[in-house]
Amino acid sequence: MSKHNIENDFKTGYTFDDVLLIPQRSSISSRKDTNLQSNLTKNIKLNIPIVSANMDTVTESSMAIKIASLGGIGIIHRFMTIEEQISEVLSVKRSEGIVIEQPVTINQDGNVGQIKELMSLHKIGGILVKDNSNKLLGIVTKRDLFFEYEDSKSVQDVMTKDLITAPEGTSLDDAKKIFINNKIEKLPIVNSSNELVGLITSKDIYKRDKFPISSKDDKGRLMVGAAIGVRQEDIERAVKLTEAGADTIVIDIAHGHSDHTINMLSKIKEKIGKADIIVGNVATGEGTKDLIEAGADAVKVGVGSGSICITRIVTGAGVPQLTAILDCVSIANEYKIPIIADGGIRNSGDITKAIAAGASTVMIGSMLAGTDESPGVIVSRPNGRYKMTRGMASLGAAVDRSIKETKSMDEEEMLEYVPEGVEALVQYRGQASEVIGKLVGGLRSGLSYCNSKNIDELQKNSKFIRITGAGKAESGAHDVLVD
Ligand code: 5GP
Repeated sequence: MSKHNIENDFKTGYTFDDVLLIPQRSSISSRKDTNLQSNLTKNIKLNIPIVSANMDTVTESSMAIKIASLGGIGIIHRFMTIEEQISEVLSVKRSEGIVIEQPVTINQDGNVGQIKELMSLHKIGGILVKDNSNKLLGIVTKRDLFFEYEDSKSVQDVMTKDLITAPEGTSLDDAKKIFINNKIEKLPIVNSSNELVGLITSKDIYKRDKFPISSKDDKGRLMVGAAIGVRQEDIERAVKLTEAGADTIVIDIAHGHSDHTINMLSKIKEKIGKADIIVGNVATGEGTKDLIEAGADAVKVGVGSGSICITRIVTGAGVPQLTAILDCVSIANEYKIPIIADGGIRNSGDITKAIAAGASTVMIGSMLAGTDESPGVIVSRPNGRYKMTRGMASLGAAVDRSIKETKSMDEEEMLEYVPEGVEALVQYRGQASEVIGKLVGGLRSGLSYCNSKNIDELQKNSKFIRITGAGKAESGAHDVLVD
């Protein structure tokens, strides 16, 4: 006789499409009044609860820069050499800071026509002028060019030479005072030999004061995470990534509830000191508890939920995502550790449901894989434009990895490999900001339906209702020809 009893032992697992949030009388008059701040980890707060997945068709530096500038965070995938991954982290860290590290310049021998070209190419209103030994000589702004119709005129005849500069290390507050006192818009930063080392613009400071939405570290740089595995060399990877400035390390394993992951977590935690560690994936309260007790600063939840994932089919294991989130949250809340709901997000409604169920953030893969900022090229088909995505445990990803590690898979290894992911095309969706904008807008509306000004209130106020197949069919556009 089996030890299992379907009537008594089996609980039902639910996912996003099995439920809806019940609309409530709402005091929210505009979705602009909602606040989407949420914790990614114990110590990192985001302005929007969206994380781009550590997949090689989703997050490298372009995606990470875009999503951090919109208030979320990207996790650079780990399927590259340590040096390549560090360089991706550094690209994010250098992309936007208090100081523009390599401002556009022109040599003293240039002319007005070249300045106009540079201004229009980089969409900027001022160009710094350097002499042949890299020393700062002056600046040409649009104002200097108002009545300059002669493109061959020398830069030196039109530039302003009386420049106000500031020394290396000038703080944002001091720069702001210099702007106010001198009524200037650009502040070049120079070293002791008067060589140009950076530029601060009043516009950038204004933008940061006015729209403090982007995710920034304490040096004013965009935040970024980086994924690692659980091989011995991943300890060194984690150390180097945090030295390069990664704000969080993600230990990324399909079955995170394992002795090996727990041992590695303790070792890595000891070595990297300050950066918070996200660990996953798990799908149960027990898994969540074990990872938190081993030091996880956030737990990533989702086994078999991803769009490109076939783990449940191949292994028979997994938990429908809403139930997994609920079970993991109920434990994580006791420790005040955030849960990241990873995989299976297909629309903004799924995000509202995941967060109402208690997740602090959601991780998104394929919805972002079709955007301009994801790695890879657009492919044209007769019925539209697409980009490629693939599970990190797909055969294609495994073959590419082994080629990168210069020990390409032989036929036998390929036959033995059991993929838990697929390769697929996703519709091309334009810029990531458009996709994120729609997701964020939908989530804000979701908060308003649940009479919630913020995520904390959503988690307290929301009420779910289970729906039937007929209810689900009624939920989308139906009985019409959608154009
Ligand atoms: P999506 O947003 O595309 O539905 O899900 C993205 C998530 O799927 C990733 O963050 C990751 O957790 C998961 N994932 C990525 N590749 C694979 C894979 O090959 N197999 C499995 N089981 N999950 C994957």
